[in-house]
Amino acid sequence: MAKVIAVNAGSSSLKFQLFEMDDETVITSGVVERIGLEDSVFTIKYNGEKDSRTLSIPTHSEAVDMLLNTLLEKNIVSSLDEIKGVGHRVVQGGTYFSESAIIDDDVVAKIDELKSLAPLHNPANLTGYYAFKKAIPNAGAVAVFDTAFHQTLEPRCYVYPIPYKYYTDYGIRKYGAHGTSHKYVSQRVIDLLGNPEHSKIIVAHLGAGGSLTAVKDGKSINTSMGFTPLAGIMMGTRSGDIDASVIDYLIKEVGLDGNEVINMLNKESGLLGVSGVSSDFRDVCAAADEGNERAKLAIDIFFRRVIAYIGRYFIALGGCDAIAFTAGIGENSAFARKEIINLISEALGIVIDDDANENGKGERLITKPESKIKVFVVPTNEELMIARDTKRLLNL
Ligand code: AMP
Repeated sequence: MAKVIAVNAGSSSLKFQLFEMDDETVITSGVVERIGLEDSVFTIKYNGEKDSRTLSIPTHSEAVDMLLNTLLEKNIVSSLDEIKGVGHRVVQGGTYFSESAIIDDDVVAKIDELKSLAPLHNPANLTGYYAFKKAIPNAGAVAVFDTAFHQTLEPRCYVYPIPYKYYTDYGIRKYGAHGTSHKYVSQRVIDLLGNPEHSKIIVAHLGAGGSLTAVKDGKSINTSMGFTPLAGIMMGTRSGDIDASVIDYLIKEVGLDGNEVINMLNKESGLLGVSGVSSDFRDVCAAADEGNERAKLAIDIFFRRVIAYIGRYFIALGGCDAIAFTAGIGENSAFARKEIINLISEALGIVIDDDANENGKGERLITKPESKIKVFVVPTNEELMIARDTKRLLNL
């Protein structure tokens, strides 16, 4: 019996899922939020029950100790030795990692070196690694990189059309993100298509963050996020693609400084920025239903930006066998799927199955047999991918 814990450590949070890898079941899952504040919140789900406590958890190390002690107290494990592997989500793997890797000193040094590309994420990911290493030193540790799946992009897709020296000297290029999700979902779709030798798939990961990926024969050939997760479609609080001259104008004419501009584009833009209501798609939809014009505009822009990438990737792939919707909006909003499909159905010959779209649950096909492209809903499962890679690399 091999137990593996999948960990996603953020700057002030730590999400976890403990798997029994023999049958890939989730034994328990939870999250520690507001680490470092007086009112941190520790939530754990086990046996259908949710237990939430508010208390001060000053550091990630204390969060991990608390989590592991709770596993023992609740008899979820009888000894911490049962946990054979810890899989860590790492946001930026740069060009070093096209695959997951067992974490050793060299891997730690590379993740640390890449922090300039992911200043909020890579240091937090390492903090999570150190905390588990201290608490359960005998468990193996694996890093699963958000960027790894996109390392198959060719230079013509990842080099920006700016002076080449910025790529060679500073590593400025497209890296993409959400790779673990795009990989999981595209593999599921290939399965659902009956494992054909060749396949052309567009994955639309639409959540608080969002990205689309063109996947040819199982490999990412292009993706909408860029140097950082700010690029691509409009998101909850991120602008996605905009003309870079806007930045210069905001600095020179509006008087913002560089930090303020990047903060605004990352945290105050997207659905939130346009609607003025919320970054949460449900809230924006509710406001639009009540007649809020800016909320309607925000939703309209969001859909247009998504279909623009579907169009690009349809061309880049030379056609498309299947489109897959995933993540919070993609999995749960029948409205978003229907509107997006409506906007592309005439061009691409897609025929939606309204009943499957609106009333179905979980992983499913939502187009009719006569549709030229199959459209699927595939709930993403990044944690399972992390746990699988951890098991595989550690030979558990
Ligand atoms: P994620 O980042 O994948 O957790 O996705 C978060 C986004 O999914 C938020 O914008 C939510 O409003 C949206 N979302 C979650 N559930 C639903 C739902 N039932 N209908 C519409 N949007 C949803």
